[in-house]
Amino acid sequence: MKKVAVLGSTGSIGKNALDVIRRHRDFFEPVLFSSHTDQFGLLALAREFPQAKTVLTGSVRAEGIGYFGPDGLFRAIAECGGDLGINGIAGSAGLDPSLAVLSAGMDLALANKETIVLAAHLVFAAAKEHGCKIIPVDSEHSAIFTLLEAHGREYIREVILTASGGPFRNCPAEQLRSVTVQDALAHPTWNMGAKITIDSATLANKGLEVIEAARLFNLPPERIRTVIHPQSVVHSMVQCRDGAIYAQMSPPDMRLPIQNALFYPEPADSSFAALDFDNLTLTFAKPDKEKFPMLALAYQALSAGDLYPVAYNAANETAVQAFLAGRIGFQDIPRITASVLDRVWTGSTDLEGIREIHRFASAYAEQLI
Ligand code: MG
Repeated sequence: MKKVAVLGSTGSIGKNALDVIRRHRDFFEPVLFSSHTDQFGLLALAREFPQAKTVLTGSVRAEGIGYFGPDGLFRAIAECGGDLGINGIAGSAGLDPSLAVLSAGMDLALANKETIVLAAHLVFAAAKEHGCKIIPVDSEHSAIFTLLEAHGREYIREVILTASGGPFRNCPAEQLRSVTVQDALAHPTWNMGAKITIDSATLANKGLEVIEAARLFNLPPERIRTVIHPQSVVHSMVQCRDGAIYAQMSPPDMRLPIQNALFYPEPADSSFAALDFDNLTLTFAKPDKEKFPMLALAYQALSAGDLYPVAYNAANETAVQAFLAGRIGFQDIPRITASVLDRVWTGSTDLEGIREIHRFASAYAEQLI
């Protein structure tokens, strides 16, 4: 039995992880559930799995929940005795819990890309110190992780990240000015939380994933290509030195990469539907970098190095919250991010330095808003 802590258990990753766990009750035992604000979702999980610890990390207090606040989460992680923690927390709030999972000696199944974008070097150091593995859950990185293991990373020339292109792929550039929050939340292939859905619409999600891939797989930006692939069936590809390209394909269902991460290093025996080739059309296109500047800005932040990716993420996070609150327009998100990146973002790359740059860049973005 693998003991699993589910962080962000009431969000989209958490719900999919629980579906996988319920299908394999003889393999996995949940030992911890956290949620930011969903006390009712958490209480339902507590009834279903009474032995698991429960944590509400937001300001809500509720009877029947064991731990509260961020400190409660860190205590519960340290005390849960888990073998693996799956982190499905949204945004930069996921970094400290990732470090706590590794410090507790648990492997980390990582769906929180900000953990890697903000502090990959600290997370790798913590994994090494405590003898833990980091297994990517993001569908693209899960695919690349599997392809690198299959083909040998020394034979890989470049990785090719696929992007669905979001709901505005075919929207004329001049109409982007007037798109609403509702338009942006209607994602064609993936059903996810609000922040990541907006990020998919701006291509900031792909931008963050380019940075994530560079850090996870130790690749320079010029060896990471992005390709629009609206069907979300090819999750990513690698090109080997002989020129051959290998793709990982499966239906767009997050339970597959989650299942692979939970079972790792054992191969998972999938109970999900396979691809139906009788009804399959795959198309690919070049990303429109002028219509969606967030992708080019991510490459720019990655090439600038230092703490620019931290500033990119903070600016985007702040701008997306403002867009969701109706304070700015859709195209202001890249505009604000570009202005933030025009500043100088250097400094100490320890946890305190990273937090400081995150705060400064968020405050500057807020000022621009
Ligand atoms: Mg992804």
